[in-house]
Amino acid sequence: MSRARKHGAGVRENVETKARRYLTEGRIRILLCNEESGVANAEVRGNGAVYSVDHDARGWSCDCAARTECAHIAALKCVMVLRPRELRRG
Ligand SMILES: [Zn+2]
Repeated sequence: MSRARKHGAGVRENVETKARRYLTEGRIRILLCNEESGVANAEVRGNGAVYSVDHDARGWSCDCAARTECAHIAALKCVMVLRPRELRRG
């Protein structure tokens, strides 16, 4: 493991690291999670703001400015199972 830590490199936390931090810091509040219909809604406290994250038939969406999948969505994916239950066998 050789992670280069040059100046500025530590500033940009990657999405996964950030998502895990949201989880460990208890910043996520799940308001709705319906596995049957695949509908979910949650709040994630970010930098002084609360972002609303939703999941429906079209996929995930988030309030924040990120154009790609953001850490808020990534964090919820860690704790929500909205896929068909193929993994539950045996
Ligand atoms: Zn977001």
